[in-house]
Amino acid sequence: YSEPVSTDCLFCRIVERSVPATVVHETETVLAFRDIAPQADTHILVIPKEHHSDAAAMAAADPQLAGEVLAVAGEVAKIDGVDASGYRLVFNTGEDGGQTVFHAHCHVLGGRNLTWPPG
Ligand code: 5GP
Ligand code: ZN
Repeated sequence: YSEPVSTDCLFCRIVERSVPATVVHETETVLAFRDIAPQADTHILVIPKEHHSDAAAMAAADPQLAGEVLAVAGEVAKIDGVDASGYRLVFNTGEDGGQTVFHAHCHVLGGRNLTWPPG
């Protein structure tokens, strides 16, 4: 079962290119683009082109796709060179997790010393 593309979903619109984004990497199944409100020098979002509401739903429906998202996250870290200095991968999930866009996405954050634990 694959969820249909939703025209109500912002990230589905970015996949369709009906909403513009600064795309930095693309595969057959995955798209990576710069976050519009970067929280660090490097802030890239990596999303499955297919709509899944969050990371857990994506992994349950298509574990290979979830692996592809992680692999692309590792690739895009090299674009800004943060693979050497270190970076953070985040999947905000649900209201308490701070998720605001309900299309699975992996934040790739780097370029500064990130604090832990997060706020
Ligand atoms: P969440 O809060 O759901 O984990 O992350 C959603 C992210 O999407 C936020 O970091 C937000 O800045 C980013 N975002 C929201 N709208 C847009 C948009 O239109 N374009 C881009 N490139 N990023 C967006
Ligand atoms: Zn979507």
